[in-house]
Amino acid sequence: MSQPSEKSLGRVRKLVDAYTNKSGTTTHPNDEVREAVELGLAKNIDEIGRPLCPCRFYPDKQEEIKHRTWVCPCDDMQVYKYCHCLLFVKEDGNPITEYLPEGHDGLEVYGVVKDPTPDLGRVLKHKAEEREIERRQRQS
Ligand code: SF4
Repeated sequence: MSQPSEKSLGRVRKLVDAYTNKSGTTTHPNDEVREAVELGLAKNIDEIGRPLCPCRFYPDKQEEIKHRTWVCPCDDMQVYKYCHCLLFVKEDGNPITEYLPEGHDGLEVYGVVKDPTPDLGRVLKHKAEEREIERRQRQS
């Protein structure tokens, strides 16, 4: 499997350090999980210039980055503090799910996982309603 450039990997590691502090989350306790996501983000920087979330499929990555929905830290993270790649999680490795809307996959998989640092992160929480409308449209 090809490796990303050191430059992009360094950029991702800086982003991850800064964002864990800012959001009050930690990286996954299993280093293999953290590393796989970081490598995926760095490869996307090499390929398209942005840290597009590596845990999703995109028919057209260039088209996708015209809006920032899945550029890390993605809207799900900034609105709900939920990281479906398990990069930004609680110390036990579980993603925070307590702010997710009813019916969201994350709640169904992990149940309600409380946020240990509710005063940090969620800078786009005011967009929760808009985000939920988009999610329902994608499902229909
Ligand atoms: S789910 Fe969001 S926050 Fe988590 S790695 Fe992907 S883009 Fe980043």
